[in-house]
Amino acid sequence: MTAQIIDGFAVAASLRKDIATRAAEMKAAHGVVPGLAVILVGEDPASQVYVRNKLLATAECGVKSLEYKLPVTTSEAEVLELVASLNANPEVHGILVQLPLPKQINADKVLGLIDPDKDVDGFHPMNAGRLSVGLPGFVPCTPRGSQILIDAVLPDLAGKHAVVIGRSNIVGKPMAQLLLQKNATVTIAHSKTADLPALCRTADVLVAAVGRPQMVKGSWVKPGAVVIDVGINRIEVDGKGKLVGDVDFASAAEVAGHITPVPRGVGPMTIACLMLNTLDSATRAIKAG
Ligand code: NDP
Repeated sequence: MTAQIIDGFAVAASLRKDIATRAAEMKAAHGVVPGLAVILVGEDPASQVYVRNKLLATAECGVKSLEYKLPVTTSEAEVLELVASLNANPEVHGILVQLPLPKQINADKVLGLIDPDKDVDGFHPMNAGRLSVGLPGFVPCTPRGSQILIDAVLPDLAGKHAVVIGRSNIVGKPMAQLLLQKNATVTIAHSKTADLPALCRTADVLVAAVGRPQMVKGSWVKPGAVVIDVGINRIEVDGKGKLVGDVDFASAAEVAGHITPVPRGVGPMTIACLMLNTLDSATRAIKAG
């Protein structure tokens, strides 16, 4: 293997420590504790794991968590009412609605009701717009975390070509916006892109956010490139479940300069950035008086 591993697990741990220090300073200076409300509707097993991990991080970071576990039969009106009450609660600086929601609830309607100034997931169209025009707002946690990892190994992106595979609103598009802000020349690829391997071979920074296990092969990677693997896919190997990314790690690590592993790469950064967004929100609330 030639690539250096980007240890997202360690970077995220250090970020959480820094957030805890800043949250303690905030409490001492202003009497304010950053507050994160998490709404989980139903009993989707993956969602329960994500919410548990997020709540563990709040405790470590000195963020107060307010947990709302609602039955799968909850109506849209009830969720909207809860969001409205959290919007009005000054102790809540961040509101997170765990997706997916049961089918009787329109996710766009619920996410659209969250006060954009408490939208720590960064999914509200207002925050997507703010990112696009370069105004301060909330950046979705996975791209924000990925950008921190890229900054750590390649701080100057001027003159560099970044290819982002995937154009989702929560990963691909905001990732491309962040890379553009950092002066990279950015290409967004998707399922209709022609000759993806050839395009990827031109990338100094390659971000894979596709949801296809081990799709990006070493032969797609430019020698020395920074490879960020956002994908989280569960596959079966010898009858056992295993988590893999969208990048074929073994072959890509032979060619890349730096590469994130799965697990312990982008995943822990996503949760740490949720805490960072919540802290940022509390800081803004204090400034706004
Ligand atoms: P989406 O399904 O919303 O988007 C996937 C994107 O990949 C689409 O734009 C799609 O193109 C594109 N795509 C699909 N197949 C191909 C292909 N064969 N060639 C090129 N492009 C393709 O996924 P998300 O953005 O939500 O998530 C992507 C991955 O990241 C998933 O594995 C997910 O689990 C993971 N993830 C990880 C997080 C973390 O914390 N590490 C957080 C969020 C997601 P098109 O638009 O044309 O359909």
